[in-house]
Amino acid sequence: MPLKACLNCKMISDSPKCPNCGGEEFTQEWSGEVLVFNPEASSIAKLIGARVPGRYAVRLR
Ligand SMILES: [Zn+2]
Repeated sequence: MPLKACLNCKMISDSPKCPNCGGEEFTQEWSGEVLVFNPEASSIAKLIGARVPGRYAVRLR
């Protein structure tokens, strides 16, 4: 199954429900990715709205 990015928070996953925001709408048209290991300590995580560790797309098409 190809990885999809959440339309709401851009988290990349292959689950039917987004682990970060619980959203159920995804796109396979994304580019770039940011790895977030520690959302609490990461200013990038705050910037992109990441609350759980994982991969996030930089851009959705
Ligand atoms: Zn999401």
